Amino acid sequence: PGSDPLAMVYAGHQFGTFVPQLGDGRAISLGQVRNGRGEVWDLQVKGGGRTPYSRFADGRAVLRSTVREYLCSEAMHALGVPTTRALAMIGSSERVVRETVETGALVLRMAPSHIRFGSFEFFFYRGQHDLVRVLADHVISHHHPEFARAGAAGHRHADWFGEVVERTARMIAHWQSVGFAHGVMNTDNMSIHGITIDYGPFGFLDGFDAGHICNHSDEGGRYAFDNQPGIGYWNLACLAQALTPVIDVETLKAMLARYEGAYAAHFMALMRARLGLAEARDDDPGLLSALFELMQAGRVDYTVLFRRLCDLDLPEAPAHARDLFIDRAAFDQWVGRYRDRLAAEGGATASRRARMRGVNPAVVLRNHLAQVAIELAQRGDYTGVERLLAALQAPFEEHPGHPEYSVLPPEWASGIEVSCSS
Ligand code: AMP
Ligand code: MG
Repeated sequence: PGSDPLAMVYAGHQFGTFVPQLGDGRAISLGQVRNGRGEVWDLQVKGGGRTPYSRFADGRAVLRSTVREYLCSEAMHALGVPTTRALAMIGSSERVVRETVETGALVLRMAPSHIRFGSFEFFFYRGQHDLVRVLADHVISHHHPEFARAGAAGHRHADWFGEVVERTARMIAHWQSVGFAHGVMNTDNMSIHGITIDYGPFGFLDGFDAGHICNHSDEGGRYAFDNQPGIGYWNLACLAQALTPVIDVETLKAMLARYEGAYAAHFMALMRARLGLAEARDDDPGLLSALFELMQAGRVDYTVLFRRLCDLDLPEAPAHARDLFIDRAAFDQWVGRYRDRLAAEGGATASRRARMRGVNPAVVLRNHLAQVAIELAQRGDYTGVERLLAALQAPFEEHPGHPEYSVLPPEWASGIEVSCSS
């Protein structure tokens, strides 16, 4: 009751090319609700049918991508990664034509707002600079009242943009630390709140490959895993351009310059925690990149390795981690360096092990796990989705009833292809 549904217009840089008008082609905001904690959430259905921005498409979403978005947003939240949430999923008997004919479905997602970098670009490139200001003031007054109150009016936009820069840097540091590749980091898929939005052809790394491209349609690898931090900056520069009507260029540059430091500091803090290091030392980035090199050489499974590293001090554990590598001598050498580093800061092994198990997930949403649940759901059986969801909501716990969630992926997993068509 009281809902006044709407679809929002926006623009965006898609794969580096500016598209002056996009918009919610299949997303419809039902409105905002205030929950018991006083938080305001924007409720949006995705897949609800045509809108004024559907262009030539049908406004629908398929069950496959709906299940993927639903599971992944909840998985990311449980991992501590900033994200839109999924409140519900609704199945449909409607047939939706993609590369093949699929079942339609709808996800109800929620976020503080669904405003994107591209929302600002839309007004900027149309020359509606007064509306850039209106939108910025709206975001500040509704979502960042701390900046509305702070000091001279001239600074509030700059302070807020600096916050967007830092939040985006932290979000992407989180992605890299858990091995998440988004797949379509166009500026229309970047939330102004620094939360992960628009789950499409995303993927978690199985065997470590820094250059992994999860989106089958991304031929040039623009959104490859190791390009994500740089693309985050590129996208923020697009947003900065769109904000030139309200913030002077020198200030925008100064705020953008915060990105690299914020990213590096946050990424290292997350990875130190994953390695069980309580103190920061100068050589930590070196220790970490040496490990990544070995992982890259042996395509070592990201999630399984870090979970096994938690147990390095148990009698059978070194062999357990070591077995994942092709060059075992090189791994032994790295372990020697790692042990020295741990010894240098001291601390009890048991408490470190517990700490590490609290930050190194046993289960992430691997493509093949989603695929198994999806195929069941396509036959009308949602128990696979529910089981997997329960595990993803407690990713740092062991799930002895479902060893398949935590083990190395099967051979067929590498054959799964995901693309933008969803
Ligand atoms: P995406 O790559 O999912 O972020 O989508 C890019 C643009 O295409 C957005 O403006 C979407 O709203 C629109 N879009 C994607 N799929 C559909 C669809 N099935 N029907 C209408 N619009 C769509
Ligand atoms: Mg999108």
